[in-house]
Amino acid sequence: MNLVIMGPPGAGKGTQADFIKAAYKIPHISTGDMFREAVKNATELGLEAKGYMEAGKLVPDEVTIGIIKERLGQDDCQEGFMLDGFPRTTPQAEALDQVLAGMGRKIEVVLNIFVPREVLLERILNRVTCNNCKTIYNLRFLDDHETCAKCGGELGYRSDDRGEIAKTRLEVYLEQTMPLLQYYQERQVLNSVDGNREAPEVFEEIREILEKI
Ligand code: ADP
Ligand code: ZN
Repeated sequence: MNLVIMGPPGAGKGTQADFIKAAYKIPHISTGDMFREAVKNATELGLEAKGYMEAGKLVPDEVTIGIIKERLGQDDCQEGFMLDGFPRTTPQAEALDQVLAGMGRKIEVVLNIFVPREVLLERILNRVTCNNCKTIYNLRFLDDHETCAKCGGELGYRSDDRGEIAKTRLEVYLEQTMPLLQYYQERQVLNSVDGNREAPEVFEEIREILEKI
């Protein structure tokens, strides 16, 4: 299964990606996670990406396309994969199609999770992640704001989840990534899912879509 999961920041993409990964045993390829890891380890890639990320802007296409190309060539992707956070621009989508065509493959399904804008900001500003197991929580639903209920790890904010930067990320999404919906609509692989519900309910609908391919 060659899958792309899309949605604005705060749509619940990461949570659904975790469910999908567990149910379908396909590698979860998140460019955001790859960049954050690179920044943490201060690699050359990380140093290049850092400034863009801290401003809520996109890392240049050539850099992002390069790391995805390399990742898709790895063994664990040969039976399928889930792309999360990529593609985000039309040139990225075109480059992806080209890379896959070279491997005799293509994107089979695109999931688009949509949520009203007011809800998105509320979710982003209240989002915390476990530093250890990476589980994502909304502070409004937590009694203990410091400790992960699953593993006891420490909860923390993502540095780009703060006010203005979060808003920039939303704007960048609306401007640069929304046009991709039409790109995939034209290729008849787009499936939109209402993300303004409890996470397990959203996943039920995703499962129904994925069972059909
Ligand atoms: P979000 O929660 O906004 O979807 P991600 O975790 O996917 O964020 O990405 C965090 C940051 O990493 C982005 O704001 C951007 O700077 C960079 N990034 C991730 N994926 C891409 C991409 N496909 N193209 C360019 N930049 C990217
Ligand atoms: Zn944890």
